[in-house]
Amino acid sequence: MTWLALACGGFTWTLLEYLLHRFVFHERLLGVTPAREHLEHHAKVDWFAPFGPKLLLAAIVLPALSLVAVPLAGWAPGLVFVGGVVGGWLAYEGLHRAIHVWPPHTAYGRWARRHHLYHHFGDPRRNHGVSSPLWDFVFRTFTPVSTVTVPARSARKLPWLLDGDAVHPTLAGTYVLAPARTAP
Ligand SMILES: [Zn+2]
Ligand SMILES: [Zn+2]
Repeated sequence: MTWLALACGGFTWTLLEYLLHRFVFHERLLGVTPAREHLEHHAKVDWFAPFGPKLLLAAIVLPALSLVAVPLAGWAPGLVFVGGVVGGWLAYEGLHRAIHVWPPHTAYGRWARRHHLYHHFGDPRRNHGVSSPLWDFVFRTFTPVSTVTVPARSARKLPWLLDGDAVHPTLAGTYVLAPARTAP
């Protein structure tokens, strides 16, 4: 039961990841303030939202989830479920940072970078999921990506992408440099 509650929490995080990213950060459902850091991250891909605003968001979301989960499932399963959400959230934070700062080492890592960097440089209305494409399929915002065109000035902020001034030879089939354009 504990593992099931934990897994349900991790799975629920993947939905929250999508909903927060799309509706709160991009469509500004809760106003401009929660979206500001994310839009700054889009403008500067080597800049990440500080922990303070993230903790504030967690301090709103996690108690709200607890208020639903505990009455539905009981104290222990409800809190383990919320722990699963926290685990998913932390894993997402690590994955998102890795996408931007480290080269891919696995097929999943290569997919995650294509999927997320298309969201950055191709169309910010598509591919809102970072850890999985599931909710992009469900909400019809999934775009399959084979090639990502990256503005040259942004490519310099992805330390794993370049070898000198050109795309690293191991990534040349997937990433193409383009002249700089205005940020989305
Ligand atoms: Zn990003
Ligand atoms: Zn975004």
